[in-house]
Amino acid sequence: MPFRTIAGHARLLSLLSRVIARDSMPPAVLMAGPAGVGKRLTAVAVAQAINCLQPRSSAEFERDACGECASCRRIARGVHPDVIIVEPGESGSIKIEQLRDVIDRSQYRPFEGRRRVVIIDEADAAGPDAQSALLKTLEEPPSASVFILISSIPDALLQTVLSRCPRLRFGPLTPAEVARVLIQEHGYSEHDARAAAADAEGSIGRALELRSDDVTEARDAAQRVLEETARNNDPVRRIGLARDLTEGRGTPGEERNRLAVRLRSLGSLLRDVGIIASRADRGMLANADLEKQLEKLSSSYDADRSLRAYAAVDRALTALDRNASPKVVADWLLLEL
Ligand SMILES: [Zn+2]
Repeated sequence: MPFRTIAGHARLLSLLSRVIARDSMPPAVLMAGPAGVGKRLTAVAVAQAINCLQPRSSAEFERDACGECASCRRIARGVHPDVIIVEPGESGSIKIEQLRDVIDRSQYRPFEGRRRVVIIDEADAAGPDAQSALLKTLEEPPSASVFILISSIPDALLQTVLSRCPRLRFGPLTPAEVARVLIQEHGYSEHDARAAAADAEGSIGRALELRSDDVTEARDAAQRVLEETARNNDPVRRIGLARDLTEGRGTPGEERNRLAVRLRSLGSLLRDVGIIASRADRGMLANADLEKQLEKLSSSYDADRSLRAYAAVDRALTALDRNASPKVVADWLLLEL
């Protein structure tokens, strides 16, 4: 997966491509940031850009892989002899033997590539002993090898390991970036992709974990609630709407989750209405496919009201987290909107 096909992280990817082009890639780096935003894809892209047989160059990426040569294809399939990926086994941890093995292999010259690339995914899953075994190699890395450690909880790594690996920080993706990937690579419709992206906190991994019909349904319900509350102040009618938010069968845990998903959709829509009402950049809309409907809502939900409503949704989610009854939370919220 060449740099140009990865969603988001434009500056970081461009920087990586520049240091690879200039042969100044540090011998060890740490890719840190939330799960599901593309850290491992980027590590593989680095391995490809280094070892591609027909590298490309563009204004954005000084050196990028072609994605098609024998080397790129073997790296993508995980069978290139000079690109080694270490990850937790079934036990959930990275064993010291796994690391000793790659340390041994990294001492030799690459078989066919320019540099050997060792990717250690979920590096925090290596215990202190295993991490210590890596230390010496990180201190004096073999010249023809690059070590890429990946972690979404870098604080779990030994301080001594952290201090030897310059940190590349990955932030969350924007909802628009998440939605684009869901559409282009996972066959989502625009509507489903937008709904899932709005509840994914910038993580494609998280968006894919959400059941897409659940989030789509949740966003539809949240939209109905906003449209009704925009034009109707009658408390009785509002309590009726609260029933709409909590309706559905299931165990108490499922009821709680369902309301939480609906509340997050509500929050996401309110945030967007606030963006429109305050005339901020519409490129930031998470639910851009509903722009017309949101615009209509912004005539009754002005900047102040949408902000207050958003804060109320946030409090409702916190109460739900603390085990308040879904019914009580929904009733309270509907009177606050
Ligand atoms: Zn290539």
